[in-house]
Amino acid sequence: MSETVRHFNVDGASVQWRGDRDPSPRDMEALRDMAAAMKRMTTIPLVTKQDQPPGGDPSECFWCRAREGKPHSIECVRVGREVTFGVYVLDDEGKPARRIGSWTNLEPWSADVETNEFMRNEGSWCADNMRDEGIYDGEPLPEVVDGCLCNSLRFKVERRGEEMCPNRG
Ligand SMILES: [Zn+2]
Ligand SMILES: [Zn+2]
Repeated sequence: MSETVRHFNVDGASVQWRGDRDPSPRDMEALRDMAAAMKRMTTIPLVTKQDQPPGGDPSECFWCRAREGKPHSIECVRVGREVTFGVYVLDDEGKPARRIGSWTNLEPWSADVETNEFMRNEGSWCADNMRDEGIYDGEPLPEVVDGCLCNSLRFKVERRGEEMCPNRG
């Protein structure tokens, strides 16, 4: 007895159905999960030789260990998202006082808004790096106070991209 293979278009992805009966609602749920997984497979950036620090094993991602040519893990820092932050100068009490421009950078896809802001405002990253990273569009940056720009600026998320992109930062 030969099995019939049919293709269904589920949420924009073509998935296979093997069987002589129509898929039940429960089967449809499984097919929908599969379609979602297939769509993720096509949008998650693939591991390349650039996903290794110099001297590392070029056949896998240094961060998520996915093999070269395969998609990164969705949690991997090398899966990026374009995020635009409003850049604010601080008042005497250290509160954001005035927006002086925007700064757009690639951030890890898996990071939420809170994490995006934490990384730029409280994390170990130094705001001086914005001179070399991402794209700043605004007024001239303020004077450096006590060694670096961290003491003068605050970043607030204004826009988060919907596309995954390779994060080579
Ligand atoms: Zn990775
Ligand atoms: Zn700093």
